[in-house]
Amino acid sequence: MVVELISVGTELLLGNIVNTNAAYLAKECAGLGLSCYYQSVVGDNWERLKAALTQALERSDIVILSGGLGPTQDDLTKEAAASVMGMELKMDEESFKRIDAYFKNRGIEMTENNRKQALIPEGAMAVQNDNGTAPGVIMEKEGKRVILLPGPPGELKPMFEKSIAPYLQSLQPGIISSKTVKICGIGESKVEDMIQDLIAGQTNPTIAPYAKTGEVHLRVTARAEEEKEAKKLIKPVVKELKSRFGQAVYTTKEEVTLEKAVVDLLDANGLTISTAESCTGGMLGARLVNVPGASKVYKTGFVTYSNKAKRKLLGVKKETLEKYGAVSEQTAVEMAKGCAFAGKADVTVSVTGIAGPDGGTPEKPVGLVYIGCCVCGTTVVKKFQFIGNRAKIRESSVSAALTLARECILKYH
Ligand code: ATP
Repeated sequence: MVVELISVGTELLLGNIVNTNAAYLAKECAGLGLSCYYQSVVGDNWERLKAALTQALERSDIVILSGGLGPTQDDLTKEAAASVMGMELKMDEESFKRIDAYFKNRGIEMTENNRKQALIPEGAMAVQNDNGTAPGVIMEKEGKRVILLPGPPGELKPMFEKSIAPYLQSLQPGIISSKTVKICGIGESKVEDMIQDLIAGQTNPTIAPYAKTGEVHLRVTARAEEEKEAKKLIKPVVKELKSRFGQAVYTTKEEVTLEKAVVDLLDANGLTISTAESCTGGMLGARLVNVPGASKVYKTGFVTYSNKAKRKLLGVKKETLEKYGAVSEQTAVEMAKGCAFAGKADVTVSVTGIAGPDGGTPEKPVGLVYIGCCVCGTTVVKKFQFIGNRAKIRESSVSAALTLARECILKYH
């Protein structure tokens, strides 16, 4: 089946927001075994919206539109889609009740134009929105399907996962099953290079790489008559991936994040961890605390941004800072060791780097980060040169710190 995506919003056309919904939907649809040949972006304009949808319906079986389901005058997606599909808009009681409850729960007065969001094309299915007011819509007519989703990613993604993906799956013969192999510490291009042969020869199952910050996820998807058969097809591929990437595979479970893998590893070995952060300013500690039950292993975190704090709280030597600088291998080592002493943990991780945009020099450019890890007395330090803006460099540092902690625990404990 062929799916087509239309992202609606003048903000997208002007470049004010990045079209992350299209990237998300394209990947999800590919994972469901749907082919996508066209994607487009249309502004909040009645005529152009209708023209884009009409054209899309001529060449695709399913059209997914995102955005423009809001309560305001310029939100036209539902109206335009209903017009193209020749359906009248009718008040949907269930949607109205949910929108009403949404406002009541927040103690906000519901305005008249929010009622508009409860209008659903006659004969269509309303898809309830657990994270906002605009319901999604599924329209079916003469073998064609039009799906409307709200624009905010925080509403679109959960709605897609909960309701749209199962719906799309139900349209196709057999079932689709997938497993994700999550890899840390190896770059995307190297990962792809290492599985070139597998990707080139793939049909069923398929392998799709997804690059995350500091991680690569390989989703293995199989289509079969039944679940058992699909799992049988997936198993040898996952086994092969595990053997190629070895310890860099931190999980094959959907719900396990890198921080959870680290917390679980610590817990399984009866170890505790403390952190000493400079340029990440507490983000590493926050990632660990993302994991429910982190209190079993996470003891304390030092945010030592200034040199004085590094000296006072972690005992980094004045001479080290003067001779090598705060962003240096030596400082990272002393931070990790000092943290082991002050933070009284079996494993400590230190991060010191230049997140930019200022502060870089030819010897120490923006993106230079040293990460130290001390496990039961053995200290390792790694140098990284990250690229990207300040946020990206800090995020990359945290992922690298979690990866290093994992590596060191596996190696030195
Ligand atoms: P709302 O009820 O919030 O008005 P909506 O369905 O009308 O939702 P839009 O008004 O089109 O959606 O967009 C709301 C916000 O959602 C945008 O300001 C933007 O932050 C985000 N958004 C919309 N479309 C996209 C997209 N394609 N990719 C990423 N974010 C998007």
